[in-house]
Amino acid sequence: MRDDNCIFCKIANGEIPSATIYEDDDFRAILDLGPASKGHALLLPKEHYADLYALPDETAAKVLPTAKKIVSRMKDVLGCDGYNLVQNNGECAGQTVFHFHLHMIPRYKDDEVGL
Ligand code: 5GP
Ligand code: ZN
Repeated sequence: MRDDNCIFCKIANGEIPSATIYEDDDFRAILDLGPASKGHALLLPKEHYADLYALPDETAAKVLPTAKKIVSRMKDVLGCDGYNLVQNNGECAGQTVFHFHLHMIPRYKDDEVGL
């Protein structure tokens, strides 16, 4: 599945270059263009699903293990003190790009990230 008007489809499938920190057959993880903290990344499925409701269970089941692998590695690379995983569904919940994505936000002691 793919949406020709979706920027995250193009990024996830490598048609637009991005700062990729992880890639496998199903997902790409990229650094966020407007990071809430150093190392803020987004996990994108390569297939287009607008939000969590549209995400097939099979893909959903891979999201957390994949995020776990990435943040476990990144916490050592970044030296952060914690991590928030955030996932917005719907405009009122803060979703601005309608291609499912999981925010992986490193946290640092005394940072002032407001979620
Ligand atoms: P949402 O608000 O939908 O949960 O998150 C969308 C996120 O995507 C935002 O944090 C925003 O900074 C990021 N973003 C939007 N457009 C781009 C882009 O073209 N490239 C990258 N790397 N991040 C983007
Ligand atoms: Zn898409």
